[in-house]
Amino acid sequence: MQSAGLPVPVSLSPEDLDRPIRLVFPELSRGAAAFGKLGIATPRQALFYLPFRYDDFSDLRRLGELVADEKQSARVKVTDVKVEPGFGRRPQRVIAQLADGSGSAEAIWFGRRYVERRLAAGSEVVISGKVTFRGWRPQFTSPEFSPVGHESIHTARVVPIYRLVGGVTQRRVRELLARVLERALPAVEDPLLPAERGELPDLADALRGAHFPEEAADVPAALDRLAFDELLALQLSMAQAREARAGQRAARVAVDGDELLALLAALPFALTGDQRRAVDEIVADLASDEPMRRLLQGDVGSGKTAVAAVALAGVVRAGWQGALMAPTEILARQHHLGLAPLLEALGVRAEFLSGSLAAAAKGRIHDAIEAGEAEVVIGTHAVIAEAVTFDRLALAVVDEQHRFGVAQRAALQAKGSGREPHLLALTATPIPRTLALTFYADMAISTIREMPPGRRAVRTEMRPRSALPKIEAFLASEAAAGRQSFVVVPLVAESEALSAASAEAEFERLRAALPGLRIGLVHGQQRAETRDATMAAFAAGELDLLVATTVIEVGIDVPNASVMLIEDADRFGLAQLHQLRGRVGRGDQQSFCILLTDAVDERAQERLAVVRGSSDGFEIAEADLRLRGAGNVLGTRQSGLPPLRVASLFEPRHLVLAERAGTLARRLVSADPELARRPQLIRMRDDLASAEDEGDAA
Ligand code: ADP
Ligand code: MG
Repeated sequence: MQSAGLPVPVSLSPEDLDRPIRLVFPELSRGAAAFGKLGIATPRQALFYLPFRYDDFSDLRRLGELVADEKQSARVKVTDVKVEPGFGRRPQRVIAQLADGSGSAEAIWFGRRYVERRLAAGSEVVISGKVTFRGWRPQFTSPEFSPVGHESIHTARVVPIYRLVGGVTQRRVRELLARVLERALPAVEDPLLPAERGELPDLADALRGAHFPEEAADVPAALDRLAFDELLALQLSMAQAREARAGQRAARVAVDGDELLALLAALPFALTGDQRRAVDEIVADLASDEPMRRLLQGDVGSGKTAVAAVALAGVVRAGWQGALMAPTEILARQHHLGLAPLLEALGVRAEFLSGSLAAAAKGRIHDAIEAGEAEVVIGTHAVIAEAVTFDRLALAVVDEQHRFGVAQRAALQAKGSGREPHLLALTATPIPRTLALTFYADMAISTIREMPPGRRAVRTEMRPRSALPKIEAFLASEAAAGRQSFVVVPLVAESEALSAASAEAEFERLRAALPGLRIGLVHGQQRAETRDATMAAFAAGELDLLVATTVIEVGIDVPNASVMLIEDADRFGLAQLHQLRGRVGRGDQQSFCILLTDAVDERAQERLAVVRGSSDGFEIAEADLRLRGAGNVLGTRQSGLPPLRVASLFEPRHLVLAERAGTLARRLVSADPELARRPQLIRMRDDLASAEDEGDAA
């Protein structure tokens, strides 16, 4: 039955989920720009554009019963709307008076245009927001509202909060996604069989529950299902890689014991016990024709690179070639600067291969590598994978393994002249034991806990924002003494663009406050060349102060930097704070880490106190695990760990799911190594791999 003239919405086919969204949803044409900004090209990508938290506004109250500091909703009559125009730096304000017979309240919006157009005196609305009290009078600040009688996705329910980008509002994202979900969910096919998913909801239900849960209690099951799929995708690629490796052989690299002692004697320092143990473990692995897969973990500055240098030199002395790869050009350059002298002391010639070299120079190095004259090559993953054929590559060292994508790994395997190179991955991210057992199950792990001797501990202090003027004077005096400082701006979880904006604002503020200082700015929205050039200028001592977002986390080594100032430190993960702190204290001078925070709640204070009280990355990671609340925060992605969006490797429930996913993955892959009969599982696996590659680009 068709009503006259009206187009009936055609239900989507499963194939539609991967077609361009503007073709499948022509009725949302005005959403095209918003989808574009959010990076959503297909209905499937929209389905997986998940909220990173929720506001629970399902608590519907009478105005007379509102309580302070909680998220609540009320059904009210608007008795008056007033617009106060902005003036100077003060933004426009819209103030509405509300009443419901039990009492009255006020709602206020700052700088939000158009609110007044949707809000007329006399209308009845459902209003949702956080309530504070001004005297006796309850006030909603920037609440959501919708007309009574119009079911709304914004009010009086559990409301999803999405990551935003330039100019797209929460309301808009929510409305667009609701429209897409309505038609797309029926077309979603579950990649798992009922027996495989067990008590977990099917995929369509999970997606609905993750975006628009009926009640807060629906969220965990929905997220568990999505987490399980991510974990399964990860475990599938691991199981397939393991299968593919089963027949592969590496070169047996015999590092002679006396030769090794001679190498160690030639180093400018004695290795610590932990370093020495790591070297021995690596040398033992190299002697076997089973390809080494070893992760070397240790805090920033613990001497991982020195261990890698010994391993590379050992391989070269045994007649083979080595390579060291870093995620960015500037890091590769720094590795070269640090390693070349060590390797030279060990009698080994290292070449630096850079994307920015002139074609002729690049060609010469390629030839030297191919002819086997270049003994160790240092560069970025991309540059080394690009066009290089090694004569006899036996060891590949990879800095920060998580950035080493699946594609790059495959490219490298083809370089080993028929043999698989041994792989040594360096990481400064402490890997909890549980994680090691589930995700790095097929990697051996060497750990450096002990710092090289003579290292001065970084002094870490917590300070309120009101101390900023004093801190700025301190930054100026450090600059006058020839030292350098980092200023890390608050993390804005909602969006990288907002983080960048706050970095720009802080940069301008500090330039005005400290006119005598040379100040630079780096953030993730800049072009890579701009960012690299500024970082290089800072490393060269041409800047006194570097204002940055967390892009510097896995960053440059500047021994002359003595201060790390982290603003709104309570917004960061503890492991992240610890990694940021590791940027200073690399030289001889006393260094400082200042955690700026106005957070008064006990948990925030307790968390920061952990970082102040410990310089042990493992201890901090464990405390972080313990103190992390049972909040529903999604996507707190930590560098060094797999690119999971929903699954949390710190969530005990998810570790159980991870083990279950591992068992299922092994069973699926051993029955059908190519997964030829399960194309949907292949897509799941590849979606995760491309998320990993996007992480590389970011
Ligand atoms: P990581 O790679 O773990 O960040 P590095 O290998 O770069 O650490 O070492 C940090 C600094 O400490 C370097 O300047 C390095 O030369 C020095 N270093 C490394 N090992 C030792 C050691 N055993 N004794 C003294 N200095 C060391
Ligand atoms: Mg290093």
